[in-house]
Amino acid sequence: MYKIAVAGTGYVGLVAGVCFAEVGHKVICVDIDEKKVDLMKSGIVPFYEPGLEDLMIKNYAAGRIDFTTDYMQAYREADTIFIGVGTPEREDGSANLSYIANVARQIAESIIKDCLIVVKSTVPVGTNDKVEQFIKDFLVNDVRVEVASNPEFLAQGSAVNDTLNAERIIIGTESNWAEQVLKSIYKPYNIPIISVSRRSAEMIKYASNNFLALKISFINDIANLCELVNADIQEVTLGMSFDSRIGNKFLNAGIGYGGSCFPKDTKALDYLAKQFGYELKTVKATMDVNKEQQTKLFKKASQRLITFNNIKVAILGLTFKPGTDDLRESASLVNVPLLLEHGANIFAFDPIGAKNFAKIYPEGKNRNGTIAYVENVEQALIGASICFIFTEWDEVKEIPPEKFKKLMQTPIVYDGRNIYKIDNMSEVGVEYHSIGRNKSN
Ligand code: NAD
Repeated sequence: MYKIAVAGTGYVGLVAGVCFAEVGHKVICVDIDEKKVDLMKSGIVPFYEPGLEDLMIKNYAAGRIDFTTDYMQAYREADTIFIGVGTPEREDGSANLSYIANVARQIAESIIKDCLIVVKSTVPVGTNDKVEQFIKDFLVNDVRVEVASNPEFLAQGSAVNDTLNAERIIIGTESNWAEQVLKSIYKPYNIPIISVSRRSAEMIKYASNNFLALKISFINDIANLCELVNADIQEVTLGMSFDSRIGNKFLNAGIGYGGSCFPKDTKALDYLAKQFGYELKTVKATMDVNKEQQTKLFKKASQRLITFNNIKVAILGLTFKPGTDDLRESASLVNVPLLLEHGANIFAFDPIGAKNFAKIYPEGKNRNGTIAYVENVEQALIGASICFIFTEWDEVKEIPPEKFKKLMQTPIVYDGRNIYKIDNMSEVGVEYHSIGRNKSN
């Protein structure tokens, strides 16, 4: 059993903390946000993540996890401190490391015994060398510190399962001591541990996310060509996926990737390469394709309708993917302002994300249009002239095709997630447009 402190209680930090507690470690989670800490102490996870709340409550009741804003107390007692604070992108595409630096400073001021610091946040290669030096520079007490890299691979929406049943754990260390501590912390997980150098670990994270983003952009590129040559992307990916060298994951054509990781991690790797005078051409292509893909349906629909002015537009799904309330870099955040600019009257449905979206686009008049949030898909569709599907929530996937026909003023559907069979939509009289498929694109 280790005494573990975790800095940052977002998707990464809180899930890591709760899972460490679940396997028997004693965990203290630190956040600077008092409201978040109060919520967690009263048994509420401050964001939507399936399965996390029950596990958090269970471990809190068992006394294995606690929450605090008192970093000094938390860090001075810890054997190991995991850092899971944000590394958002700066305007120039580089990673903003100021949150990491703040935690590093707080750690340096607090610790009174030898301590392993483990960075879970995604940071550019070489950052952890600097974090270690920075902590040493500001240390108040004469103790041994070392920084290790332990990048996180969970996906929002399945974060708990992804952590407890991960395919691998990457640890990047520069000493036998750090390697052994991390191996021993993760022993109860019974998951293969890949032990590499600190810099390689940092690079594994960026290379993995950039490869996944590349897969998505590649298949979207092929989907766009399928439309032109009258092939069907779903048949194409089916055929490709039987080749085990290719596999069947991340081959769904659509309106591009979003979320808090792929967009920023592609930009940050591109930035890092440029700093060393190297151009990552595949990463640049990944970003370019994704940018165009996000507005693909808007552009198609603009040609079809002539104008959005005073048109009721149904939007189904606002989050960047189902299973999360996270809106960061979602396609809706690109398309909603475009539609409002063009005078649309938007009725948006999202089972979890609408509340967060309304904080950015409050109900009512906005630009030349209006936006309202509705409780169910029916309210969004009724009387609408056009419908955009941005997120494949179950509530959206379960809509029978007849419903579009019955409820909409004109049943025109632009599906950014290729949910429906083309024939099923056309049989009931819905004009259906999707991505890369061979009828009525
Ligand atoms: P997040 O924004 O959800 O959470 C960060 C938390 O850190 C916030 O609660 C914030 O209040 C807190 N914080 C900021 N400064 C602090 C300080 N000095 N002390 C304590 N807490 C502090 O971030 P996230 O989505 O969990 O991502 C964290 C890191 O993990 C990023 O580098 C991200 O790229 C990486 N990552 C994220 C995911 C994901 O799916 N979200 C997956 C893998 C890796």
